Amino acid sequence: MKILVVEDETAIADFVQRGLEAEGYTVACAYDGDEGERQALGDSVDLVVLDLMLPGKDGLTVLRSIRDEKPALPVIVLTARDAVEDKVSGLDTGATDYVTKPFAFDELTARIRAHLRRPSNGETTSLEAAGIHMNLLTREVTLEGTAVHLSTREFDLLAYFMRHPGQVLSREQILSAVWGYDFDPGTNVVEVYVGYLRRKLATDANPAPIETLRSVGYRLAAR
Ligand code: CA
Repeated sequence: MKILVVEDETAIADFVQRGLEAEGYTVACAYDGDEGERQALGDSVDLVVLDLMLPGKDGLTVLRSIRDEKPALPVIVLTARDAVEDKVSGLDTGATDYVTKPFAFDELTARIRAHLRRPSNGETTSLEAAGIHMNLLTREVTLEGTAVHLSTREFDLLAYFMRHPGQVLSREQILSAVWGYDFDPGTNVVEVYVGYLRRKLATDANPAPIETLRSVGYRLAAR
């Protein structure tokens, strides 16, 4: 099992690396966002520990690149305690979990063990709900067996719904998860893209399975 640690504070990176190696993991370190992104996307990595405040590309940018290329790779984000409130919504961008600094090593390893055990590391590469099948690697989508062609953003939006079937998702949650937490909250992109998806996911027999709950949000319903 190989873990990539992306952290510019060398004292923390060394501490985490030594501890994880003592637990039997293979560990690589990257000390800035660009190098972290390169290693995360390029090498065979089983899990990434990612600091958010990094020189070069910031952690959330790196996280988005990882999610685009490797949707199933577990990423545990490190974040400063006082920044948690602000970041939590941003973490919907695709962090598997997060640990606040300063953290106890045991806390980090417990999370790492939990996420490496999950079938999602490298094996769950598809999502299935409401008659829709999404292949996260090839980005192919079928609806009741028929191919549906989606843009990148439509795909990401649908994947977010598919990860939370039956759950009511607020416009703000969707916006931060799919467009990024710093996106203009006054925008109507969520409404617009839900509209695009509905048109593509409706069949002669059935409307698209995305319900609007007025003034609350949206929900992927079972077909
Ligand atoms: Ca840092």
